[in-house]
Amino acid sequence: MPRKYDLHTHSTASDGTLMPPELITLAAAKGVEVLALTDHDTLEGLVSARTAADAAGLILLPGVEISVTWGGRTIHIIGLGIDCRNQALCDGLAELSAYRRRRAEAIGRRLSEEGIEGAFEGARAFSNGRLIGRIHFARFLVQRGYASDEREVFKRYLVKGKPGHVAGDWVSLEAAVGWIRGAGGQAVIAHPGRYGFTRAKLLRLIGQFTELGGVGIEVVSGSHTRDECLRFARYARENHLLASVGSDFHRPGNLWTELGGMAPLPSLCTPIWADWEEPRLPRTVSG
Ligand code: AMP
Ligand code: MN
Ligand code: MN
Ligand code: MN
Repeated sequence: MPRKYDLHTHSTASDGTLMPPELITLAAAKGVEVLALTDHDTLEGLVSARTAADAAGLILLPGVEISVTWGGRTIHIIGLGIDCRNQALCDGLAELSAYRRRRAEAIGRRLSEEGIEGAFEGARAFSNGRLIGRIHFARFLVQRGYASDEREVFKRYLVKGKPGHVAGDWVSLEAAVGWIRGAGGQAVIAHPGRYGFTRAKLLRLIGQFTELGGVGIEVVSGSHTRDECLRFARYARENHLLASVGSDFHRPGNLWTELGGMAPLPSLCTPIWADWEEPRLPRTVSG
């Protein structure tokens, strides 16, 4: 039976604006039947999301989006269908959260050298004491009038070469894929179109990722153009990767797209859910 899947979303547990139960309610209203909550580097939102999903009759996959440093760049690896009690995964994510705090303090110092005071405290207030990310700095800087919206703040302050940029020092690809597999999940390369990689570099990533046991790639993403979807569908097929679909929803509005509002997967690829079993998705995870 065809279902509507959205396998990449965020809540207030990381840098989304909706509480997990609000996210579930909105997803159900949009007709999403299978939703993965994939907050950055944390599983904190999953308990309250589970309760809400059960009440709404929506299938929730426990997920995570892990920050990875690979080839001198930050990339994101999604874990789908993970066991949230897995100790190695929980320990690894706790270290990433601690690193995020140190990075945020460093971003705050950089911004204060530019004459912007109180950014760390301001960003922390926006994060509500939960995981802290660049979006929380963006919200603070918009509130203070340094830019008119989040995208502009990123461009002017938070990306490479700009005053508030701190190069991430995240975990290795090997660690991220290992934690996900160890927790019984499927590892997926998130939004390959966002890294600005050459074809050769992306194929190198795919090669290392599959050798480590990664199984999927996001073909349809809220941040991909239709041409990118078709290109990544081909890469998925040629490299025997399963294809995933996710909005990368952060908030109502358009960053990156609306819940469940994506194009269908091109028919040439195999969906990551092809061998998931009903009703307790997805326990046929390949090793
Ligand atoms: P972080 O993991 O804290 O470095 O923040 C990365 C997050 O910032 C991404 O997941 C997006 O939510 C957001 N982000 C990255 N680039 C941009 C951009 N150009 N405009 C708006 N948000 C962005
Ligand atoms: Mn984000
Ligand atoms: Mn991402
Ligand atoms: Mn994301």
